[in-house]
Amino acid sequence: MPGELLLSAKDLKTWFELKRWGFLSAGFVRAVDGISFDLKPSESITIVGESGSGKTSLLRTILGLAQITGGEITFDGKIFDAREVKDLAWMRAHVGFVQQDPYGALPPFMDIRKILSEPLLINKVPKEEHEKRIRDAMEEVRLIPVDDFLPKYPHMLSGGQQQRLVIARAIILRPKLIVADEPVSMLDASVRVEILELLSNIQKSHNMSIIYITHDLSSVRYFSERVFIMYAGKIVEKANTRELVQNPLHPYAQVLLNAIPDPDHENAKKFKEVPPGEPPSLVNPPSGCRFHPRCPHAIEGLCNTQEPPEFEPAPHHSVECWLYK
Ligand code: SF4
Repeated sequence: MPGELLLSAKDLKTWFELKRWGFLSAGFVRAVDGISFDLKPSESITIVGESGSGKTSLLRTILGLAQITGGEITFDGKIFDAREVKDLAWMRAHVGFVQQDPYGALPPFMDIRKILSEPLLINKVPKEEHEKRIRDAMEEVRLIPVDDFLPKYPHMLSGGQQQRLVIARAIILRPKLIVADEPVSMLDASVRVEILELLSNIQKSHNMSIIYITHDLSSVRYFSERVFIMYAGKIVEKANTRELVQNPLHPYAQVLLNAIPDPDHENAKKFKEVPPGEPPSLVNPPSGCRFHPRCPHAIEGLCNTQEPPEFEPAPHHSVECWLYK
């Protein structure tokens, strides 16, 4: 029903086929492998995982940039079929995308006015609204004075200003959902907090939902409702942010939290445990629990043979781990 849930993913799978040899398939990269979750209007979700965990593929699937291999996405009460051009156009009009690399995301031969006009033209927003929409979006992301910035090209902006422009383009159609893919990982440390605060303020003031993905668990406080921990194509833990930070259940979530640098000067000197080993191949993921080759609590004969289902040891706190059977 529209209004109850904005987005629902059910047993979502996105597999990419490796190069074929004649009639033989060389296998599949199981980037997203059986993910289910719901997102309410105005809600924020942070998805945390190491590089290669499949979180970008999950976002691309939601945006229709990667084909669904299995499962289903429902957006605003309607099943989304990325093979249908009208579904894709509808999704693009209602979901704003903030990419990781702002310079790569912006067309180099367009000035700011053209860049911000493009989505308005494509989505047939009445011409008389364009100027106000462009100016409002630029003021909101603090690209001011607006008249000074309007004729500039992306290469004339700093990295932080480029990402502000990407955010302005993402919100100019007043979407219901923003998806942000590591939006500060390519920016100078000095502007990261500003950009995260900006995104967080925009999300709240427009009552938009946001899916924020990051490898940095310490940044969850900016989008603070729920956190999902993703590992090797699966979501292994879901909880409210406070609950997860205070009581992480999955051994992988525990080592991720333990790896966050402590701002306390004395504690910062202590050894911080990081996840041992490397994330597994998504072509031939380990049998059973995919974390078992790295897990200090793995139960021989169970974890290496049987995939754990989702357990809910506390209300609204679920985990895929045999320790909570
Ligand atoms: Fe570790 Fe087993 Fe839990 Fe996987 S299911 S995280 S291997 S204890």
